[in-house]
Amino acid sequence: MQFKSTHECGWELLLDIKSFIADRVSLMESSEIREILELTEGKNVISLAGGLPDPNYFPVDEMAEIASEIIKEYGSRALQYSVTRGLREFRTEIVKFMERSGTPGERPYNIIVTSGSQQALNLLAQILVNPGEIVIVEKPTYLAAINVFKAVGARFEGVPVDNEGMKVDELEEKLKALKADGKRAKIVYTVPTAQNPSGVSMSNERRERLLELAEEYDFLIIEDDPYSHFMFEDVDFKRLRSKDKYRVIYTSTFSKILAPGLRLGWVAAHPDIIDALETAKQNADLHTPTFNQLIATEALKRGVVDKHIPKVKEAYKRKRDVMLEALEQHMSGMATWTKPVGGLFIFVYLDENIDTKEMLPQALSAGVAYVPGSAFYIDGSGRNTMRLNFSYPSEEEIKSAIERLAKVVKEYSDK
Ligand code: PMP
Repeated sequence: MQFKSTHECGWELLLDIKSFIADRVSLMESSEIREILELTEGKNVISLAGGLPDPNYFPVDEMAEIASEIIKEYGSRALQYSVTRGLREFRTEIVKFMERSGTPGERPYNIIVTSGSQQALNLLAQILVNPGEIVIVEKPTYLAAINVFKAVGARFEGVPVDNEGMKVDELEEKLKALKADGKRAKIVYTVPTAQNPSGVSMSNERRERLLELAEEYDFLIIEDDPYSHFMFEDVDFKRLRSKDKYRVIYTSTFSKILAPGLRLGWVAAHPDIIDALETAKQNADLHTPTFNQLIATEALKRGVVDKHIPKVKEAYKRKRDVMLEALEQHMSGMATWTKPVGGLFIFVYLDENIDTKEMLPQALSAGVAYVPGSAFYIDGSGRNTMRLNFSYPSEEEIKSAIERLAKVVKEYSDK
């Protein structure tokens, strides 16, 4: 092999390695949030950017006990390969968990276990969307969902959200217009409850209408639901999946209700969808780690998850209130923001002239990080918005971060 000098390691390969990379990689985008998290690592920056659970609440002792019992009692099984769909007893526990939390009527054959719900979205994009097909998403929507649909060549249409979630009347207009144009949307992707990034939840009326539209215009709905366990007010949002087991593909995750490091999620869907997902998952990773599935099965059986959720919910409710109060105190008149009834995020709308992406370096220098809102819009709009996370920072950090942020916004606006 021939080398020429001057690469970062002192050599430049004459071989053009990049030319070997497949064209589809150009459709893949790395997450802006991960990049911001990297920028803040090890620095004195309070990060409101991620979507991390508060690690102080991880049920470490219970998990240590369960993990050691599993390795002692089922060691050889826990360390062995297992079926692609997920362990039968885990899927059975997931069915019971769904029933307890408002989605009865599932069966283990309706369920596939995935490596986080991120993998669920990735596999769903692969099995459902041909290049050029239309996926409708909320504006704003979950960034990593945009990225997985983009990677399979989806075309996007966006429907704005307000305080009652996706504006379903605008969705209807969009569907009508597409039909008149001889086109069809195949998928509507929604995070109906405590949405990431906006924090808003879709009203039950709109949910009903969305399901009717799915019939009328013949599309499937992906209901991405990581946050419905963290509702802080007395609200009763009906899961779309609880109303329609044909058109609604439901995905959720253990990341927020137990621990994200386990990488455990699942899909509940029509068996034909589950079969296709199983084939795609075989290609992706054969199966989700057996050991982790056994741990979560036990955590469900012993009530660790059910006991964990109310504790975390209490903590996040307090943190949400602290953030709302701090925003009121420091940013009234400068911005408006959502008042989420659940979840992990508050979305802030600043003056139209403010570009939050441009402002970010100033914020980082002032010791606070957020995600510029435009990352969550398929059309690059939302430049004056930002997403703030309240689950990870402490209450003191939240207060101080909002104070710093308000100063940054003032300085930026006065320029
Ligand atoms: N969907 C949404 C809306 C999310 O907010 C997240 C996590 N941030 C995911 C999916 C992926 O979660 P995980 O892969 O950890 O299950």
